[in-house]
Amino acid sequence: MYIRRRFSKTFINKISFILPLETVISGEGVELLPKGKELITLCPFHKEINASFTVVPHKQIYRCFGCGESGGIFSFIMKYKGLDFIDTVIYLCEEYGISYPKHKQRKRKKRRNEKNPLPLKE
Ligand SMILES: [Zn+2]
Repeated sequence: MYIRRRFSKTFINKISFILPLETVISGEGVELLPKGKELITLCPFHKEINASFTVVPHKQIYRCFGCGESGGIFSFIMKYKGLDFIDTVIYLCEEYGISYPKHKQRKRKKRRNEKNPLPLKE
């Protein structure tokens, strides 16, 4: 059985703090060209001739004026790689050498572990 792994908000925030969006996008082989304070490229999500995919580094968001896609590092990888959120987090951690909790378990019912004080030990 596949147990869904979960990540805390703190951990998710930590990843977005560590990994700049532009690094993640160019890490996927999407070449970004500087345009003023922003970066532009041909949108990886729809076919176009003129670049309308814009990365705004100081806001850590991307936006495409052609197809309307927008978001941050997680939604970019989810769409670009076709992964769900959890797998995206794992992908980014492995790709960029961030250690992550491998078998984080769901919280069990409280107070059932008096007899066995370390039921979650892996
Ligand atoms: Zn687009």
